[in-house]
Amino acid sequence: MAVGEFALIEQLQGRLGGGGKGVLLGMGDDAAWLDPAGQSLVTSMDTLVAGRHFFADVDPADLGWKALAVNLSDLAAMGAQPRWCLLSLALPMRAEGYSPWLEAFAEGWHTLAESTGVALVGGDTVATDGPLTLTVTVLGVAEQGIMRRDAARPGDLIWVTGTLGDAAAALDLAFVARGLPGYDFAGPATQAQALEARRLRPLPRLDFGRAAQAAGVACALDCSDGFLADLDHILKASGLRARVDLERLPLSPALRDCIDQDLVRWQRWPLTGGDDYELIFCAPPSLTPALLNIAHSCALPITAVGRILPADSQPTESVDIYWQERPLALPGIRGHQHVF
Ligand code: ADP
Ligand code: MG
Repeated sequence: MAVGEFALIEQLQGRLGGGGKGVLLGMGDDAAWLDPAGQSLVTSMDTLVAGRHFFADVDPADLGWKALAVNLSDLAAMGAQPRWCLLSLALPMRAEGYSPWLEAFAEGWHTLAESTGVALVGGDTVATDGPLTLTVTVLGVAEQGIMRRDAARPGDLIWVTGTLGDAAAALDLAFVARGLPGYDFAGPATQAQALEARRLRPLPRLDFGRAAQAAGVACALDCSDGFLADLDHILKASGLRARVDLERLPLSPALRDCIDQDLVRWQRWPLTGGDDYELIFCAPPSLTPALLNIAHSCALPITAVGRILPADSQPTESVDIYWQERPLALPGIRGHQHVF
């Protein structure tokens, strides 16, 4: 049943609107009133559009989780502590209304919001003739400083958290299941489930990001558009080049099972596939013992996959890719980019 904007806002407020550290006045007034207690603020925004970032028939609980997770991932990459967020919902008309949908959405959102200590303090709710569109703004605090893209140095090791490529492989699998033109994915269904979980419910690496920053890591970003494209952002911002050893990119057991030695798959999933939400960071080798300790205490594996090189006066590519000690020429796609 269709309901008005105010009923939906009330429903959201009831499920997600209470409490929060530093919230002087939360949802329900013209604006939220927040107290960062003398700390500097770190903020970011991400928009998710139905049909472009998620299937329109997605489970709303998964969507609630992911809409928040992709934003928290940006704060993780800065080494910030998340505190508050705002949610804009643009909803197309639906005969059956949005109450059950919103209930499930709020449940998925709440699970992650509670475990990461982030409070919903405001937003906007509108009807649209376009696709369902969600925009989330997160606000966090930097306790000591932040990590940035332009702070890589020659000689730094390039690290990644967790594993790469699962979400991209799961997306191919979903395309195949929906009969859409995709990659011919071969793999048993037991793996499909593990891959799909990574696509639907990414885990922002908040604890690791904060600890790495506190330990002296200056350069990081989160990997959302594909490892190669995102590493390239660091290299452009830092004015440097890099060597990456493709076979060192960390794979989950599920992905390792179906990727084998197939270089097309290595390129398509862990190297250039999107939606990983792992951190890529650069650090001098002297920090390695401290970083391995942090990884251990966060129960999150980290892997060194290459090295930052000095700038070249006439580089052909910013990243030299090696496969088992041999330079590799990889034609074609290098990452995701919106085109207008
Ligand atoms: P105004 O018309 O003054 O902009 P609204 O009617 O849009 O206020 O919103 C009323 C209150 O509900 C505000 O505090 C706003 O931040 C909050 N709100 C509206 N939509 C959302 C949403 N999708 N998520 C969280 N808070 C929301
Ligand atoms: Mg409004």
